Amino acid sequence: MKSDATGPRQFGTIEEILGSAQVREQHRALLLRLLWRARQTSRADLARKTGLSRSTISAIVADLLESGLVEETHAGVSSGGRKPIVLTFADDAHVLVGVDMGATHIGVVVTNLRAQVKGWTARPFPVRTKPLGALELIQELIDEALAQAKAPKTRVLGIGVGVPSPVHPDHPGRLLPLILPKWADVDLLDALQKMYGLPVFVDNDANLGALAEAWWGEGRHANNLAFIKVAYGVGSGLIIDGRIHRGQDGTAGEIGHTSLDPNGPLCVCGLRGCINTLIGTQRLLELVVERAPQFPNSSLAARKRPALEHLVAAARERDPLALEIMAHVGRVLGTAIANLLNLLAPEVVVLGGGLTEAGDALFGPIQDTVRATSLARPGPQTPIQVSTLGIQGIALGAATLALEAALDDPSLFASRQRLGA
Ligand SMILES: [Zn+2]
Repeated sequence: MKSDATGPRQFGTIEEILGSAQVREQHRALLLRLLWRARQTSRADLARKTGLSRSTISAIVADLLESGLVEETHAGVSSGGRKPIVLTFADDAHVLVGVDMGATHIGVVVTNLRAQVKGWTARPFPVRTKPLGALELIQELIDEALAQAKAPKTRVLGIGVGVPSPVHPDHPGRLLPLILPKWADVDLLDALQKMYGLPVFVDNDANLGALAEAWWGEGRHANNLAFIKVAYGVGSGLIIDGRIHRGQDGTAGEIGHTSLDPNGPLCVCGLRGCINTLIGTQRLLELVVERAPQFPNSSLAARKRPALEHLVAAARERDPLALEIMAHVGRVLGTAIANLLNLLAPEVVVLGGGLTEAGDALFGPIQDTVRATSLARPGPQTPIQVSTLGIQGIALGAATLALEAALDDPSLFASRQRLGA
């Protein structure tokens, strides 16, 4: 047969070769996600669930076995014939680093690939005003947490970082100068990548709180979830269809800058009467001082320099001044939550941050307001839960960001294998 340009070709075009490599990567990602989710499965199961051929599955599983991400055992109950081979996802094949960089603290967690905490360390630090010191401390805490976890750097898959700023998808290492002016010349992502030579992922802290809840916390079974962090200010993270909703320029979820009173106090963002100006820590402590004279029997009123933890403790003890302030917080937060329920209809709302420790003193007023101001459905039926992940929540979300990226793009695992070799 005469061979010419239109005849049968032994090799594919560049597009075909790239295309088949891409398809293989997609298949690899699909199998890896299934294996991660199932923890234990078999080649036959994978074939049934994906519709891929046995030979495709065998080839990819062989790669995964080679990389150490999957282990093979011959256990299991056989139905007469050969004992089935069980494939198990190796949760401890790598570790993840999650950094919670708050305005006034840094926390670092080291986890395995199933969010089991292997190391944790945290320290207060004036992050806002000292970027270089903050970077040094992050490095120190990562080293400490890795030592606790007995994990060498070569086993780290990636580093996730939560920051108290919106994160623009085009330049995630640049924090918003409006919130963190001293960080204007620092690229956080770049700096950490240079320090460690590892993939680094940066996202807003409330987004990561939401991600942690959706993967490991109160929203484990929810596809749509709202997380509200009530700390120094109020922020929210939204999970829509299982993914963080970042919105235009990464600014979604800025619930703290919802203006409830156009004649209210001026906010740092330039608007008036934002939620942050009404129930941010600073305002709550001003309120304690302003209202103190009307509460002669309040132990909180007697404090010379009240702090947030005093307010929370007093609320738990049903101190009348603290209860009045919590009623105010509950009305404002309840209004925000009711609007959120009407707009997004999440399956669950999870609250995190120090103020939630006030317990029923805060939840009663929140529930009352939600009942009074949200649509009848799904409003009051939507569970409003307190985070159970505690102070590690944001850091866990940061580690999960790196895990999510690796399950989406298994070449991250592969690149670590080479570096770690
Ligand atoms: Zn504002």
